[in-house]
Amino acid sequence: RVRVRFAPSPTGGLHLGGVRTALFNYLFAKQNNGTFILRVEDTDQNRFVAGAEEYIVSCLEWCGIVPDESPQAGGPFAPYRQSERKANYKQYADQLLADGYAYYAFDTPEELDAKRKEEPNFLYGQRSRMGMRNSLTLTEQEVNSLLESDAPYVVRIKMPSDEQVSFVDLIRGHVSFDTNLVDDKVLLKADGMPTYHLAVVADDREMEISHVFRGEEWLPSAPIHVLLWRYLGWGDDMPAWVHLPLILKPDGNGKLSKRDGDRLGFPVYAQNWTDPKTGDVTKGFKELGFMPEAFVNLLAMLGWNDGTDQEIFTLEELISKFSLDRISKAGAKFDFEKAKWYNHEWIKNADAGKLLPYVKKSFEMSGIPITNTDRLSAVVNLVKDRCNLLSDFVTQSSYFFVSPTEYDLPAVKPKWTEEKAAFFEAFIPLLTDESAVDLETSFKALATEQQLKSGELMLPFRIMLVGGKFGPGVFDIAVLLGKTETALRIRAAIQ
Ligand code: GLU
Repeated sequence: RVRVRFAPSPTGGLHLGGVRTALFNYLFAKQNNGTFILRVEDTDQNRFVAGAEEYIVSCLEWCGIVPDESPQAGGPFAPYRQSERKANYKQYADQLLADGYAYYAFDTPEELDAKRKEEPNFLYGQRSRMGMRNSLTLTEQEVNSLLESDAPYVVRIKMPSDEQVSFVDLIRGHVSFDTNLVDDKVLLKADGMPTYHLAVVADDREMEISHVFRGEEWLPSAPIHVLLWRYLGWGDDMPAWVHLPLILKPDGNGKLSKRDGDRLGFPVYAQNWTDPKTGDVTKGFKELGFMPEAFVNLLAMLGWNDGTDQEIFTLEELISKFSLDRISKAGAKFDFEKAKWYNHEWIKNADAGKLLPYVKKSFEMSGIPITNTDRLSAVVNLVKDRCNLLSDFVTQSSYFFVSPTEYDLPAVKPKWTEEKAAFFEAFIPLLTDESAVDLETSFKALATEQQLKSGELMLPFRIMLVGGKFGPGVFDIAVLLGKTETALRIRAAIQ
């Protein structure tokens, strides 16, 4: 039975790497008729940010990655917020203490700070633990009296010495870590909250998680988790580990961060995130004008492909084609230009009806109310293959709704002449609302008759209608504008 979880900490915006982790979990669950769980890992009170959970939920919803079990949807293993499971973790810390796999540490934050000042590379572990105040160095009596006097303490795992912790990662194969290099991580904090390491193992066990998909940055934590599974006596039921490749900066130089997005001007969050403390807004793909289908598609390709040249996949296709053996070990470079290409493909192939609500809203937000939806739909069809972002529709087609106010006809070389103006005057009665092909034929015939080059008249015509040198075929534009409006624009331009 496949049960997988996406386990974000509600500490801020949802980075595209986080959404990719959610997506891969989801694809694997759906492909195997399994269950996809959202578990909120909010045990770190210092990093907790109000509103972040709601934001994560709404990002997943926008992507169409809907959890089967979650704090919102509930489920047989509720609660799905770790802070609400707090009382549950202590028993595991107690079991580890009783079995000698963990110990109490009473060092105060001041003592630890002093130690770190003395030794900048200080790690609480095998080499140093005997010099600290903990249940390995204090007598049983001292420990008991400290506990009785409610002295603050943490519980630390006792990393074994000279062991290789080995396990299989479904992407990386056999992985092993030298325990001498791993410190004695805190499991239970002074406030009684578990740390990530204890909570993740306890919950993965209790929620019967079969596969742990998460970013490669968690690989160094895996030996701690493997040991905890073993020490708690559950080693045989350990989930399969799947550490997903990192998402790298566009130049491949290190992990992609929010700062890279800020610096290079592209979003790294699914949706806009407003920091509740500073009010700073970090841009999201949604608001920038990405279709959720395109966003999901491009995320899937960050570290996965189906072995063919196919690049455009629907969510349904991804569910059926996804496979662990086609996930790469190497980090995946994030290229914003490529991301826009995906969006362009999705926009180009979308039905106008699907694009319409978004386009209508962007027009309205730009102060251009749309009353005729059929007309907007025709406009959308005419310009959609020129748009990379949904927000491009306004710049690419606002001239259909607002007449240009500036024409730079004299700038159209070779020279704007009286003869050309006369040509357009004569062309007005030939306008039609019916067919762009017919309109083009009569335009060219008239030009020949007047001994003008039609090629030299097309750009002026475009500028009259559009106000600039862009847009789809000028005769398509004229037909869609209609003969009355086209005539008005010609007159306004040549007067
Ligand atoms: N809470 C961790 C995070 O924020 C989850 C890591 C894991 O999936 O084990 O990414």
